[in-house]
Amino acid sequence: MKHKSEEQPHEPHVNPFARLPRCGAKTRAGTACQRVAGPKRRCRLHGGAPGSGAPLGNRNRLKHGRYTAAAIAERKTVHALLRQAKAHLKIMLE
Ligand SMILES: [Zn+2]
Repeated sequence: MKHKSEEQPHEPHVNPFARLPRCGAKTRAGTACQRVAGPKRRCRLHGGAPGSGAPLGNRNRLKHGRYTAAAIAERKTVHALLRQAKAHLKIMLE
């Protein structure tokens, strides 16, 4: 294997994007999008553009509140408690 040198400053045949996470959104062809995902997990064509998405606290599309941060946090707590109770029950019944 050749190494970096004065004559060849870059590693040959190494794609710098090869290891970056991919978007993975479903394309119209039904396959997963192969574009490099940004910090928001999707590429700029599939919802990862900087500044896209609703601002925090936006109420315009609120219908029932099931997916508000508070509701999600509450469900998470309840599920954690249920998991604990299940584990305790399992220990008690052994
Ligand atoms: Zn994409």
